[in-house]
Amino acid sequence: MIEIIVGILVVTFVLESVLDELNQRSSTQTPDPLVADLYDRKGKAKSLAYGGEKLRLGLFSGFISTSLMILALTQGWFASLDEFWRERIDSTLLISLIFIGSLSLISSLISLPFGLYSTFAIEAKYGFNKTTWKTFFADGAKGILLSTLIGGPILAAVIWLYQEFSGNFWLFAWLLVSSVSVFMFMFGTKLILPLFNKLTPLSEGSLKREIAKYCESQGYSLKNLFVMDGSRRSTKANAFFSGMGKSKTIVLFDTLIEKLSEKEIVAVLAHEIGHYKLRHTAAMFIASNLQTLAIFALLGWSLQYEDLSKVLGASTPSFHLSALTFFILLTPLQILLGLFNNSISRRNELSADTFAAKTYQRAPMRSALSKISTDSLANLSPHPLYVAFNYTHPALVTRLKNVGS
Ligand SMILES: [Zn+2]
Repeated sequence: MIEIIVGILVVTFVLESVLDELNQRSSTQTPDPLVADLYDRKGKAKSLAYGGEKLRLGLFSGFISTSLMILALTQGWFASLDEFWRERIDSTLLISLIFIGSLSLISSLISLPFGLYSTFAIEAKYGFNKTTWKTFFADGAKGILLSTLIGGPILAAVIWLYQEFSGNFWLFAWLLVSSVSVFMFMFGTKLILPLFNKLTPLSEGSLKREIAKYCESQGYSLKNLFVMDGSRRSTKANAFFSGMGKSKTIVLFDTLIEKLSEKEIVAVLAHEIGHYKLRHTAAMFIASNLQTLAIFALLGWSLQYEDLSKVLGASTPSFHLSALTFFILLTPLQILLGLFNNSISRRNELSADTFAAKTYQRAPMRSALSKISTDSLANLSPHPLYVAFNYTHPALVTRLKNVGS
């Protein structure tokens, strides 16, 4: 059994490395004529170098985390950690909670140097980084605090449900987790985002008038349109849609407003409204909750096998050790689900682009897409397999072809 688990980890790492290598080779190829002129010689070299540095960091961190995981599995470190808490704490619920908490703390500490290097070495070198050290560590602290305050009680409830209902626990646990996710889907942007960023209503002026005119033509209420200070962390431009019904919200980054023309900004906004009008956000939300249901059902079924704990070297079976083994065994299925979800997401992006081109204007949609891509030094000729596994948005050339000229 342990051989299968280690095998899954190794195969996953090899797969990611092969995809990275294919993509890096593909990025040196001459891109499609449609996007060939977007970079000059210097821009192309810069984009290649940026992609290369990110790839090497990804490979290195993947290698370290896979190696540590294999060591932990084969040397019985998980069982030792479990033992350590078991000797000090009586309550099984508390043991599970603290085990999972300490494991996530250890894994955050392991990924910390990679996050630091990515932000302050790579992103800074290419002129993207605006994050100060203070913001970086404040973000980390807030992240830990939020997952303790929100994730902790949910996890405690899930473990309690498992102890009380064992056989049917997965259904109750899913009901709980999905209710929380509905709440977050509706109000997350309002409640959580302001802890990290400042949201301000768009100021009066010609941009707001142009946006209002478009929204009126689509019967879309402008009530929740905010500008976010994305420039606090990065120069990269972005926008997103969240929520549903009365809570629906569109957020434009200040960097987007700074870099794009008025018409291009309205085109991006039209794309976001497209996601809402075409019911992408709601459909993706429902699909993700159904996938969670399937995963909970599988977890519920697997937890009856105590060998899942024993394979990690533990003498006492437990929820947390079995769940850990379960989630590693689930990796191949997660990769397949990722492929499926990414392909749906890319299809939705194309439909939202088409929506914006049809209901607003084609030309600014095209130029906005090109500007956002080249501004972030995107790879203009990614490998199709890499796209299939990793891209939630299609490559620029696919999007331009879809919008048409
Ligand atoms: Zn989109």
